[in-house]
Amino acid sequence: MKFSKLFIPTTKEMPSDATLPSHQYLVRGGFISQNGSGIYDFMPLGKIVLEKIRKIVKEEMDEAGALEVQFGFVTPLSLWEESGRDLTMGNEMLRFKDRKGTSFVLSPTNEESVVNMVKNRITSYKDLPVHLYQINTKFRDEARPRFGLMRGREFLMKDGYSFHSSEEDLVREFNLMEATYKKIYTKLGLDFRVVEADSGAIGGSGSKEFHVIASSGEDTIVVCDSCDYAANIEAAKRKKIEYNFEISVETKVETLNTITIEDVSKLLNVPTEQTLKAVIKKAIFKEGLKIAIFFVRGSDELEETKAVNSINALEIIDATNEEISEAGIVAGYCGIKNLPKNVLVVVDSELEGSNSIVCGANEENYHLINVDITKIENIVFKDLVAVKEGDICNCCGGKLSYTKGIEAGHIFQLGTKYSKAMNANFLDENGKAKPFVMGCYGIGVSRLVAAVIEQNHDDKGCIWTKQTAPFMVDVIVSNSKNEDEAKAGEDIYQSLRKLGIETILDDRINARFGFKIGDFELLGFPYAIIIGKKLSEGIVELVDRKTLEKVEVKIDEVVSKIS
Ligand code: ATP
Ligand code: MG
Ligand code: MG
Ligand code: MG
Repeated sequence: MKFSKLFIPTTKEMPSDATLPSHQYLVRGGFISQNGSGIYDFMPLGKIVLEKIRKIVKEEMDEAGALEVQFGFVTPLSLWEESGRDLTMGNEMLRFKDRKGTSFVLSPTNEESVVNMVKNRITSYKDLPVHLYQINTKFRDEARPRFGLMRGREFLMKDGYSFHSSEEDLVREFNLMEATYKKIYTKLGLDFRVVEADSGAIGGSGSKEFHVIASSGEDTIVVCDSCDYAANIEAAKRKKIEYNFEISVETKVETLNTITIEDVSKLLNVPTEQTLKAVIKKAIFKEGLKIAIFFVRGSDELEETKAVNSINALEIIDATNEEISEAGIVAGYCGIKNLPKNVLVVVDSELEGSNSIVCGANEENYHLINVDITKIENIVFKDLVAVKEGDICNCCGGKLSYTKGIEAGHIFQLGTKYSKAMNANFLDENGKAKPFVMGCYGIGVSRLVAAVIEQNHDDKGCIWTKQTAPFMVDVIVSNSKNEDEAKAGEDIYQSLRKLGIETILDDRINARFGFKIGDFELLGFPYAIIIGKKLSEGIVELVDRKTLEKVEVKIDEVVSKIS
């Protein structure tokens, strides 16, 4: 490719909201262009990078035996009603009506679509397992779209879904996907960690996240320096609490005594006041165990959000009610800070979030556990210990430290959550109908474009890894008006292309040398070959973008130096 023919609108101007290097450099380098809040277009260079990542993902998914499909970006709301997620997806799922008044959504994820595709088409255990994936646009109306491609509203995801006749086979596929993802991130040239994670709104039992290590990452992960142990901090806390809790599930919680608001205020050591009344739908207290369970309905009423918060009179977290009801984690932040450690808050008892129980004593020590609250009979508190650095179950005992990560992938063992809800069954060996056992596996393809730069940049611009670089070599003709230089540039460009090395020739007649070098540094191609003054002596310069080291090389040897 020749610079003069390409559309690479580089600029010194910084987007005003761009705080992260990847956001700044991708916009300044003419890779992407913002179109609306959280919506980005890919310009030619950006599209090349996106396609390179997509290709690596596809190659490895195909290699692992998954089959590529494509689901509609628009899905009917009725599918989400079948699974029950129309109630739990909250405002992140954008809904709209067509001219006939039928409701649709812009797909934020596609579990419902895949179940709909497989249901009644795969009917026997003999046809299992099957794994279907797509690389397709997603839309999530993120509360805070930011950081460019990192947290867009429209973004590209690889999402795969597997179907099995048994839990064991699901675990086999889950492990295969873990290995596949490791290959993908390794091929992309990234430093990453696999971490134990929380399943969040997607649900299911086991889940692992893949984090690209970068100081700008939004997630905090705990890593061990002597073994492979790594966990998302929330999962690490939850693990600890699981270890410290005993939950038996014999009779229903309704058998416990109900207490008054006054009892609760005594327990919490806060005055009985109107705000407490607003939040507590039902409080249950079991003497001896000293447990209070609050059923906090996630509703549209801001009053309730305020009330959760006002228990401790702390600042209101800028969160929607849906966020509170979905994860419970926000309630953990805003409602739990000073509660006695023997208090449980059950968030949103009627929706899916009822599985989330937040428990804790203070800001540093709150925990989220997943359990079906309707089945809790007895909760035994063992010592509730705050999770501190170096205080996790489940690793070799080596030194633990916190690091920041960018969530670039997430794999889940879903089990039968969606197949049961949508009545998607197969016949087992004995002719008995059973719901499919499912897994799902996501990779943030467009987020990876940004993640590569977050991990690899300097104060001049991008430093693409060799696997993701739009071009491997930038052949810079210092003065394109000089015929000898222009010819030498063209010759080197052609030789590299013949060898299959992706090369761009900076042949711009009216661009000064300094400008061309500035573009090379900003755009971050791994190498530049500079054809300049020493051409008459048969010498050109080879620049390594990572180190910015320059070496003089004989012109007929330079091509062989590119690896
Ligand atoms: P996050 O915690 O960052 O909001 P998530 O847990 O909601 O992500 P998943 O549902 O696990 O995301 O989706 C799979 C992958 O899609 C994520 O691991 C991430 O790489 C990517 N992804 C999710 N949301 C976005 C977004 N708003 N913009 C770009 N990529 C995203
Ligand atoms: Mg999210
Ligand atoms: Mg996440
Ligand atoms: Mg996730």
